[in-house]
Amino acid sequence: MDTTVVRTRYAPSPTGMMHIGNLRTALYEYLIARSLGGRFILRIEDTDQERLVDGAVDAIYKTLRAVGLRHDEGPDIGGQYGPYVQSERRRLYRPYAEQLVREGKAYYCFCTRERLEQLKATAPGEVVGYDRHCRDLPSGEVQRLLDAGTACVIRQKMPLSGSKTFQDAVYGAITVDNRELEDQVLLKSDGFPTYNFANVVDDHLMAITHVVRGSEYLSSTPKYNLLYDAFGWQVPTYVHLPLIIGKDGRKLSKRHGATSFEALVQEGYLPEAIVNTIALLGWCPKDNRELFSLDELSAIFSVDGISKSPSVFDYDKLAWFNGEYIRAMPAGRFQAWIHPALTQVFGEPVPEPALLAELLQPRISRLAEIPEMVRFLTARQPYELDLFSNKKNKASPESAARILPLLYDALAGLAPWTRQAVHDRVMALAAGQELKTGQVMWPLRIALSGQAVTPGGAIEIAVILGRDESLARLNIALERLAGASAEKGDA
Ligand code: GLU
Repeated sequence: MDTTVVRTRYAPSPTGMMHIGNLRTALYEYLIARSLGGRFILRIEDTDQERLVDGAVDAIYKTLRAVGLRHDEGPDIGGQYGPYVQSERRRLYRPYAEQLVREGKAYYCFCTRERLEQLKATAPGEVVGYDRHCRDLPSGEVQRLLDAGTACVIRQKMPLSGSKTFQDAVYGAITVDNRELEDQVLLKSDGFPTYNFANVVDDHLMAITHVVRGSEYLSSTPKYNLLYDAFGWQVPTYVHLPLIIGKDGRKLSKRHGATSFEALVQEGYLPEAIVNTIALLGWCPKDNRELFSLDELSAIFSVDGISKSPSVFDYDKLAWFNGEYIRAMPAGRFQAWIHPALTQVFGEPVPEPALLAELLQPRISRLAEIPEMVRFLTARQPYELDLFSNKKNKASPESAARILPLLYDALAGLAPWTRQAVHDRVMALAAGQELKTGQVMWPLRIALSGQAVTPGGAIEIAVILGRDESLARLNIALERLAGASAEKGDA
């Protein structure tokens, strides 16, 4: 029985925002570790100093925290395999590269940049690899150049014939012809390891058992394996994840919508909903269930549920998940969450924030819908008087012209202006006039909102508008109705 502790790592290069694909990799690494009782490690891969972007490391931490992917080892919390930032491990790689040189599996290459560029220029347009010029330099010559301090890199000797097959947990057996593999650089002339080399050495030294990453790394994997073989190290389990595409079948990009975690959050998606959607991006549970908390995923995730066909990131589906999570939020948290969106519409203070939250929670699927949904509360909407017609409520512009003045009088002196007080006053009017509730509520709601569909009913709208604005809108409506009936009378 294999008793190795499962160790997975999320190994981002801090070169920008955390994209949906990165987050999926991190999530699956986390879930594999959690579902198998293992450990999840964070390693920052900053070997490519030129591509580093300010703030990218922060975005990684922030995102992991926001979605609840807690790492067990990493730059911020340490661990027995540290340091966990590649630039801090810089000194560690050279001895490994030199070991391979001693064993005849790698060699010093003194080719100048000019020579390499010339090589490229001899076959323009073609991808030509290094011509292995230094692979068989006599050892005396190598020593002479080293002693003279000639700038050099260390390259790996790739087999010149045969092929290499490796197993991927998702894609199965993949075979690559060795002749396609270039003698790759392991250590650069500045002493920094190449990304490919550092990645393998670190995965080995950190005892990583599962390497999870995007399928764009599939073609590099034979190179990694040749390094594992050269050192005699155990190859980890590879889990390459399918490409993420939009609904149109093209690789997911900004043209489809927001693609970074941060941008999605800004558009009003909840971290839980984003995680739930991403969990299903290439992975499917046995029972086709859809809603999962992170803990539930941690219990049931399994690599054999990952599919190799491209996964569609569907923004409608994300909005659906978001709606489900919004509905399940505790009322207080929902109110706090929508507050910034409401201040953008109302300014401070937001009127009746608890009531607004009550109206919006069952109705929205993302924050960005709020301004449009509540605009009628801050600005009077132009509307046709036909809106007062409603068969079900036996309402018409004529009945509204009769009822609205009564409503105006009933509400004019009302204080305090509370939900209960407005409700009781309107209901008393209906009873006194022997009208059904709908016959009163319909014209009231239209007069206050100018819309046939509103979040909440007439009473709630009146409370949010406040007494003065409610009376002003009633007044406008009844004057318009009176004007219209006078015109009809004239005709
Ligand atoms: N640093 C690589 C990236 O950000 C990770 C590749 C890997 O997981 O091996 O894409």
